[in-house]
Parts: sequence; structure tokens; C-alpha cells
Amino acid sequence: MDEPLNLGFEEAATPFVSASQNARVWTEHWVGANLFCPNCGAPRINQFPGNRKVADFFCGVCEEEFELKSQRGRFGPCVVDGAFGSMCDRLAASNNPNLVLMNYDMARFGVTDLFFVPRHFFVREIIQERKPLAPTARRAGWVGCNILLSEIPKSGKIFFVRDSEAAPRDLVMEQWRSTLFLKDQGVAARGWLIEVMKCVERIGRETFTLDDVYGFEDRLTAIYPGNRNVRPKIRQQLQVLRDQGYLDFVGRGRYRLRHRS
Ligand SMILES: [Zn+2]
Repeated sequence: MDEPLNLGFEEAATPFVSASQNARVWTEHWVGANLFCPNCGAPRINQFPGNRKVADFFCGVCEEEFELKSQRGRFGPCVVDGAFGSMCDRLAASNNPNLVLMNYDMARFGVTDLFFVPRHFFVREIIQERKPLAPTARRAGWVGCNILLSEIPKSGKIFFVRDSEAAPRDLVMEQWRSTLFLKDQGVAARGWLIEVMKCVERIGRETFTLDDVYGFEDRLTAIYPGNRNVRPKIRQQLQVLRDQGYLDFVGRGRYRLRHRS
């Protein structure tokens, strides 16, 4: 049995005048006090001592790292992240952190939604380069980036809390495990797999045909303009997804997604 989850923030004395600094204290405290590790199931993850540039939390058991992004109200199609250059460098790094995305509500004074994006969903395709800061800015010329949440497939957004309801931890871990195979792929190979997963999601049916996926040929050609073999590439990705238990071939160019809740 899962221990009951307390979604409320603690009314700790908050020393800051700024609302965003206080929110940082509340949300980080909540994560440290309540959040388990979706990778290995350790009951808590730990906060890094202050001012680490990239990750905020780590698991003392499996050593996965986590970056927390929290916001009042729901996220839009993207979230702002740090420097574009260092994000690109991190894509291939083994300690690139997983994302923890939290929404909170001040009326309830607690968490309303929280989902994980496993680090293996971080590919170049979901990172958007922002315009350099204006010459008049303090950090003139600095280039930041956005993480395009809208470009992450559903299987890469693993909800623990949705609409103030917590999901069973077992289910969260099962969803986490179901895409771990992406980790074994290089960054470029992962990009293709994730794009094909998104096409399959967009078909919106459990059973579909190869032609349904070929229907996204133009879209994939636009993403990978250098590739002249999009159809063979699609078939190759479907084969990998089959081998990894993400979907099944059911004969005559038909496929079925494995059941996942
Ligand atoms: Zn862990």
C-alpha cells in the first residue's frame, strides 16, 4: 500500500518578500518531504546543497538526478530553461537530469499536478533556441532555451498527481520502465524513435496500419530534411518499438499498441 500523500505545502516561515522565492521554498520543501524516486522506488529523493547549476534533487539509491520546475497554474506548450548551449551539451550526458514538473494552487496551498519527464525524452527536437538577449540586457547576447512540452509524447509525461489526485506509485514506476529502452539509443536514434512514437499517438487508435504511419511522411521529412529514406526509417523504428515491447505486429502491416493505462 502506498502511504497517503499530503498535497499541501507546509506553512513554514518564509523569509522572502518575493512571492516566487517563497514558492521555491514551499515547492522544494514539498518535494523533499513527499516525492519518491520513479526510477527505483526509493521513498524519497534528496535535495542537492544549494546553487547546483543543473539538478536540484538526486536519488541516494539509484543516483538519478532531477530538476524541479514549478509554476502556479498549468504549464503552456513550453517551459523556459537555462542556457541553450549547455542544454545541448547535456543531451548526451549520463547525468542529464530528469524533469519534475509541478503545478500548484495558492488557494489550496498545495500541489495540483505533478509529472515526470524521464531524461531519455530529452532530444534536440524538444529544445528550442531562444533569441539572444538584447545588447542593452545585463547578459547581452546570452542565449536561453525553451523545453517544448508539446513535442514530448504522452508516454514521456508520467503523471504522479493529476487534478489533485495521486496515481499509485507502482503505476508510475511501470510507466517509467516502459520507455527505458530509449536510454540505450544514441541521441539521434532516440529522436527518430520519439518522433515515430508521436505519430503513432496522433493516429489515436490502439490498432493501426503501416499506411497510417506513412501518413506522417511529410511531417517527418520536414523534421529530417536530409533523410531521403523516410519510409524505411519508419519501418525500422516500428521494428525497434516492437522489439522493446512498446507495440506488437499483428500481421499484414497492422500494429497494435501494448496496453498501458
Ligand atoms: Zn532511485
